[in-house]
Amino acid sequence: MLNYSKTLPVVSRPDVLVCGGGLAGIGAAVAAARSGAKTMLIDRMGFAGGFFTAIIGSAFDGFVDERSGTPVVGGIVFEMLERMGVVKPGQGPKLRYNVNGDLNFVEMHPERVIPRCDPERFKIAADQILKEAGVEVLYHTQVADVVAKDGRVQSVIASNKAGLVAIEPQIAIDCTGDGDVAAWAGAPFEKAESLQPMSLHFRIAYVEPSFKLRRDCARVLQEAHQRGELGLYAGPYPATFSGRDIYFNATRYPGDNTVPEDWTEAEIRGRADAWKMFELWKEHLDAFKEAYFITSGPTAGARESRRIVGDYVLTGEDVREGRGQDDNVVLGAWRLDRHPADKSGYHDIPWTPPYSIPYRTLLPQGLENLLVAGRCHSATSEALASSRVTATAMGMGQAAGTAAALAVHAGEGTRDISISELQGKLTEAGCILEVPDEAEIEVGDPDWYE
Ligand SMILES: Cc1cc2nc3c(=O)[nH]c(=O)nc-3n(C[C@H](O)[C@H](O)[C@H](O)COP(=O)(O)OP(=O)(O)OC[C@H]3O[C@@H](n4cnc5c(N)ncnc54)[C@H](O)[C@@H]3O)c2cc1C
Repeated sequence: MLNYSKTLPVVSRPDVLVCGGGLAGIGAAVAAARSGAKTMLIDRMGFAGGFFTAIIGSAFDGFVDERSGTPVVGGIVFEMLERMGVVKPGQGPKLRYNVNGDLNFVEMHPERVIPRCDPERFKIAADQILKEAGVEVLYHTQVADVVAKDGRVQSVIASNKAGLVAIEPQIAIDCTGDGDVAAWAGAPFEKAESLQPMSLHFRIAYVEPSFKLRRDCARVLQEAHQRGELGLYAGPYPATFSGRDIYFNATRYPGDNTVPEDWTEAEIRGRADAWKMFELWKEHLDAFKEAYFITSGPTAGARESRRIVGDYVLTGEDVREGRGQDDNVVLGAWRLDRHPADKSGYHDIPWTPPYSIPYRTLLPQGLENLLVAGRCHSATSEALASSRVTATAMGMGQAAGTAAALAVHAGEGTRDISISELQGKLTEAGCILEVPDEAEIEVGDPDWYE
């Protein structure tokens, strides 16, 4: 053991400090700043977007009620879709969608597909929306520790190229996905015995996506797995941005990304498996004759780690039954998509109706000036299989940022704010808190998406 003591500079005293600039963190920081709070956002990466951008690409899952394609998350999610050119300004709420452009879904609902959100467009849109909201952004800055006393976060200790620095916010919002801030501040947390596996995505150019190709890719992987040439793998789930390239969600590594050795191994094994798959496809499929391996990463992504225990724990039953709750701050709507850590290929993803995510799931037990939002909010492992996804995380972030600003202005703790005032502010900002009446929704013109 090393006992180490050092005097650190306090580099900032913001009203609201958002730790982690993923989907939840962007929503939280923009909402807090727009609500008049002096807001700072820090992230360990050199760009925002979390696993949306740090794993090359993902869909905006949780955005719609799949029965009708009607949006169930609004607010900053719509703004990001507009900024990326995915929907026309003002048109977002009026359309029906299937934002998941994954080839499986193209097959099921060809009329409803809109393009996937390109991660490079997402990075630019995130930089812009944060800057315009007046958020002070510091990239390459990682939370390293927290000083908490009497149920309050006093200082967040961060590490960056300037060394160790302290930030002293009135309210902190933990959007690190792993609940780093809450856990290090002493909040209770849980971890499933079998966590969802990590995956390293990779992108291949000069190959044209098609349904047949997806089936062929799956067959080649299955045969290699049966011959013992390939270990655990997922799907594969191919998706495209240009129609002339494919990124694959196909590697699977069981482990815990809060254990540094596990995350390192997920990168090393992920790269080896990605290249193995690429070589197998090149060897067995004509469609890959000209194919070129562009990139993997930037990092292997984690679907599940610490789940912070809050004033309420969202349950699988809440999700399956589409349960409404009085302190609803965002609607979840994605399927129960729990990737298995011990099985290759495709897994069941049972459909769920829209359900409430209560404000209480953003309140870590025992802390009065800390909120959590996104993947680390308070949910069982089963419920998190649905609530962890991108659009839902961004909606949770918007709720947390709005709540933090209300608490700052009132000089109160996060549990003292008025829920009806919070819900009113969210609705004013375009968030959707009730499942929309299908009859009011115009059907989008499918040609528009060409
Ligand atoms: C492989 C994979 C595929 C996925 N595919 C999809 C999909 O197709 N559709 C979908 O909707 N969802 C998908 N997801 C889920 C989705 O990406 C995440 O659940 C979602 O990004 C959660 O958002 P978040 O903001 O809570 O966390 P994250 O996106 O994890 O963001 C956390 C942010 O905090 C930063 N951070 C972490 N620790 C620290 C620290 N100590 N200090 C400073 N910064 C820190 C990170 O750099 C990151 O920017 C996928 C996830 C993975 C891993």
